[in-house]
Amino acid sequence: MNNYDVIVIGGGLTGSVLSYELAKNNFKVLLLDKDSFLNNATTYSYGGISYWCGTDKLTNQLCEEAINIYRNLGEELSEDIEFRELDLLFTINPSQNINQLLLDYQKFYIKPQFLNIDESISLEPLFNPDVIAGCLRFPQGHVNPLKMILAYQKNFIKLGGKIKKELVISVETNNHKIKGVKTNNYTYSSEQVIICAGAFSRQLLVKLGLNLPIYFSHAQLIKTLPSKIKLRTLVMPCTSKRLDTEKKVTDKKNLSMWQNPNDELQSDVEEAGAIQFLDGSFCLGQISQIITNIDTPIDAKASERRIRKAIAKVLPSLSVLQGTWHTCQVAFSQGMPFQGGKIKQIEGLSIFSGFTSPFVFVPPLARHFAHYLAKNQDSIGFQVLGNDLPFVIK
Ligand SMILES: Cc1cc2nc3c(=O)[nH]c(=O)nc-3n(C[C@H](O)[C@H](O)[C@H](O)COP(=O)(O)OP(=O)(O)OC[C@H]3O[C@@H](n4cnc5c(N)ncnc54)[C@H](O)[C@@H]3O)c2cc1C
Repeated sequence: MNNYDVIVIGGGLTGSVLSYELAKNNFKVLLLDKDSFLNNATTYSYGGISYWCGTDKLTNQLCEEAINIYRNLGEELSEDIEFRELDLLFTINPSQNINQLLLDYQKFYIKPQFLNIDESISLEPLFNPDVIAGCLRFPQGHVNPLKMILAYQKNFIKLGGKIKKELVISVETNNHKIKGVKTNNYTYSSEQVIICAGAFSRQLLVKLGLNLPIYFSHAQLIKTLPSKIKLRTLVMPCTSKRLDTEKKVTDKKNLSMWQNPNDELQSDVEEAGAIQFLDGSFCLGQISQIITNIDTPIDAKASERRIRKAIAKVLPSLSVLQGTWHTCQVAFSQGMPFQGGKIKQIEGLSIFSGFTSPFVFVPPLARHFAHYLAKNQDSIGFQVLGNDLPFVIK
């Protein structure tokens, strides 16, 4: 048995950033991840930092903190995480009502600029002008997701943190108090465990008898080889379909579907989007499906065909690039942009998962959360998060 102050389960974006921030606060931390090859939602992400997306005082503040963190992060971690600032273009379909869209997007911390077709093409010459009515333009940060989490992990180790590649089988408790975790290899003891297992957080919670509002989708995408074609912006369609779907499948009247996981397709959202990394490779996305069985098989060939067909309409030259299809599971939570806090039913158990726009919210919130765990208080009043959930930080 090894003794740690905190055990973090999951070494994706949430777990890697939080482990580093905890180590900075002098916690002795063990970070456990089941995969020796990083094969998670973070690795397959676009890596876009939507620091425009705050909608209230707290999220606006976090957006501001996030972009300031990123502007200095390469230096803080002494690693090249390929941070840059670029334009995010939300493509508008000719059937959409532009005035209504502009109104809908007024709620955000940074308001978008409408670009007509000519302006869109001059910013992003790869667009097919026949299928768009223009774009909404937002300022966006961007990192290489894999480089970023590896940089966080490297610095976490420098601060004395330990990383082990082991599958957590169960979180061990005694009298509603955390004792540690059991992996496929070993039993580790600690009085604090933080679940950062992304889509798999739900499974771990269910095993503990906790039914918290953390759910997941099955995302599908293509990673291409480096290419000489240049995409200047991050492209996504101007639609809230995915968020609307997440709302629907976590609506009270639909929650029973999550109790008995199965292979039934509950919803399917296609968003033709693309980002190019600095090595010239692309991530082309994305299909998001709600299927409650986390291990459900996906038809790779059909999915790849669909993604390429959708991309062919908007960014024709990218649709034929050689690449590899991937699927991963992405966590989301019910009706709020994140789930972070202590779980009141089990002393010593916390969760930091289920983020919408995690690349913007995770770095600042991990700082606040680590600070809160170290000092039992924090300037943003961490206890407010999760107010209407079954657990509340006291
Ligand atoms: C195509 C695509 C594009 C995206 N683009 C963006 C974007 O531009 N901006 C943005 O903010 N977000 C984006 N996202 C979403 C974002 O990538 C994810 O929400 C985020 O990376 C999730 O991080 P995580 O740490 O919660 O989960 P993950 O990255 O999935 O990490 C969870 C980790 O937990 C480990 N784990 C699970 N169970 C166990 C266990 N029992 N024992 C040990 N380890 C375990 C897994 O191995 C995994 O490494 C995108 C997602 C996709 C698919």
